[in-house]
Amino acid sequence: MINFQYARANDIADAVHQMAADPAAKFIAGGTNLIDLMKEDVERPSRLIDISGLPLKTIEATADGGVRIGALVPNSDLAYHPLIDQRYPMLASAILAGASSQLRNMASTGGNLLQRTRCYYFYDVTTPCNKRKPGSGCSAINGLNRIHAILGASQACIATHPSDMCVALAALDARVHVTGPAGARTIAFSDLHRLPENTPQSDTNLHRDEIVTAIELPARGFASNYTYLKIRDRLSYAFALVSIAVGLELEGATIKEARLALGGVAHKPWRDAASEAALRGQAATQAAFTHAADLLLRDARGYRHNSFKIELARRGIVRALTQAAQGTPQSQSNKKIV
Ligand SMILES: Cc1cc2nc3c(=O)[nH]c(=O)nc-3n(C[C@H](O)[C@H](O)[C@H](O)COP(=O)(O)OP(=O)(O)OC[C@H]3O[C@@H](n4cnc5c(N)ncnc54)[C@H](O)[C@@H]3O)c2cc1C
Ligand code: SF4
Repeated sequence: MINFQYARANDIADAVHQMAADPAAKFIAGGTNLIDLMKEDVERPSRLIDISGLPLKTIEATADGGVRIGALVPNSDLAYHPLIDQRYPMLASAILAGASSQLRNMASTGGNLLQRTRCYYFYDVTTPCNKRKPGSGCSAINGLNRIHAILGASQACIATHPSDMCVALAALDARVHVTGPAGARTIAFSDLHRLPENTPQSDTNLHRDEIVTAIELPARGFASNYTYLKIRDRLSYAFALVSIAVGLELEGATIKEARLALGGVAHKPWRDAASEAALRGQAATQAAFTHAADLLLRDARGYRHNSFKIELARRGIVRALTQAAQGTPQSQSNKKIV
């Protein structure tokens, strides 16, 4: 049992002020990840700053044709919102592939970005883990590593980022709005999460006392040719072994623009400029898709239990690109029935 204080934030400035005043405090939104981590003794905040009452729950169209999503919009509201469902179905599909409807009702947009890895050892405080306790070692490298990274890992950590939503946000080139003691700033989605290198304790480039206020989507939504393909051990209620978000813009049979992001393979949603560039201007064929997959996976490295992910990712990329090109996205099994 750990003792902690609990306080509600009155507004964004108050949230930032309270966080800056206590280096061991944590924001809490839906609590679906943070409370679990506290129960397992992984997180030991001195103070929970409850931001769930802040006015960050709107989804609105922006002047440049995009959409701005408040950080406290619940995952289910986001997936079922008409603007998202119609203009960014890849994002709706990715969200609905995650967790369960009960969890999606509680989970917030901001919290989803900042959820922590599902590495078994990170949750087991009796084992060494550099992410939980810097310098203690990595139990996964020579341990059970079936769910771990095949790209961008380091000697210090081979964990993956577990979010589905973030894979689609990466493919869509989202931007993240944050506010801290120094004011507001915007972070490109590809710069939000980081690779582990020698400091796996830091999942993101967010400063500790910054709050996420909104996510912004640019106008391009790839609503005609997209897919989110999630491959996992069970059909529902399981994290991705490998997931693939694809958005294509086609001119006839030629690929004009291509987005390809992978989940379950690295410490951050994985995008690769070379494989996307290789698709642009090409006919949408199996040969082009296989070449893009090979390029994306050129530096992939497996560990004792997860080498299968390399071939799984290769085949998944080809399948996801094929589905997107044919305009036959992976079905949204959790689609709301009205
Ligand atoms: C059983 C189970 C299965 C799941 N399956 C999946 C899955 O398949 N796919 C998937 O993507 N996810 C899955 N999840 C994870 C779930 O999506 C996350 O727990 C959820 O999105 C976190 O949101 P939250 O609002 O509850 O965050 P919280 O638990 O409240 O917070 C998480 C972290 O974010 C920080 N935080 C929250 N909001 C902000 C903000 N606005 N600014 C700054 N910091 C903030 C908190 O301080 C904390 O560190 C699963 C979770 C569970 C428990
Ligand atoms: S992979 Fe990362 S999170 Fe898992 S035990 Fe190693 S250091 Fe910890």
